[in-house]
Amino acid sequence: MNKADGRDPPTPGNGWTNKDVPLMMYPQTQDGQVHLYQCHRRYIHTSHGWSRTGSACPNDAVAAASSGHKINHDDEAKVVRSLISQLSEKYYAKGWMPGTGGGMSIRIGSGTADDPFAVFSTPSGIQKEDMVGDDVFEQDIDQNVITPPITPGLKLSSMNNIWFVVYNLRPSTRCVIHTHSMYAQLATLLDPSEQSDIFQITHQEMIKGVGNHAYDSMLAIPIIDNQRSENLLAPDIEKVIQKYPKCNAVLVRRHGVYVWGDSWEEAKTRLESFDYLFETAVKMKSMGIDPGVVPKKKNADASTDTIKCKENRAASKDVTIDDTIEPSKKRKRTDTELKNSKELTQTIDSEIMQYA
Ligand SMILES: [Zn+2]
Repeated sequence: MNKADGRDPPTPGNGWTNKDVPLMMYPQTQDGQVHLYQCHRRYIHTSHGWSRTGSACPNDAVAAASSGHKINHDDEAKVVRSLISQLSEKYYAKGWMPGTGGGMSIRIGSGTADDPFAVFSTPSGIQKEDMVGDDVFEQDIDQNVITPPITPGLKLSSMNNIWFVVYNLRPSTRCVIHTHSMYAQLATLLDPSEQSDIFQITHQEMIKGVGNHAYDSMLAIPIIDNQRSENLLAPDIEKVIQKYPKCNAVLVRRHGVYVWGDSWEEAKTRLESFDYLFETAVKMKSMGIDPGVVPKKKNADASTDTIKCKENRAASKDVTIDDTIEPSKKRKRTDTELKNSKELTQTIDSEIMQYA
């Protein structure tokens, strides 16, 4: 884009692309940014699901739904590139992608001849707060580079093959995010022996945010050991995904976390919920409270428990609560069961199997 159309060119850090932006795309943005959140939420139709962008655009949900219009690949690619650069910038600001660490990837397309998969991902060694959309790589599902970054000298990330491990093993996955969040890596050290291969936390409201879990579910996330190079993590991530077919996150000890979802919104929601829980767990541990132990409940009110059981059943299809058991007795029995560390360990695998 240039001054000829009366607009200032986009600048690094604003998340937009260096390329000319077609006029029909511009109304989706303000000041060069696709707006992730605003009062008038409109959506554009990506190949799989609706994504928030801006408003008053021919590609918004209302217009698309009435006309049957489908955004073409090039326009969708611009939005995805912009989205990746904006989310990276936001996560840099949160301290989750410091010092060029971390990255993310989004996949679009259907995997058909007419609409092949296209994978967009952050390059290696880039300042995440200073990315533009044109710094993003586009690859096909076989990892061939379709569109390299316009910015000279950028290389594929060392986490590149990890994106594809997830996409290939989880065909519904559309977005993978990797952070070097302080609390994610500290959460792998709650077991001082560093032998644990499971992070666990229960009885936290934000557990609901990861999907298919209730407040009092036991959330369990696999932990793998770090390697000297990021790409060497791929085999262990592959093993974990195959062992736990429904898990949607892997912690890497003394390193960070990988999270994925069936849309970028889902991956983002999970990532933020997980990180909140990691911080909670680390702080609980420093307070002398084990985040993975069911809290003792004094003077349990049976009527309150009954309400909670019903809420939980509604919130989670996978969590089975036997409401034929009188709630206060059920609570007492659960405490007794979970005090037995041997039984607790045996439940972890099934818990990871449950979450999706
Ligand atoms: Zn990393």
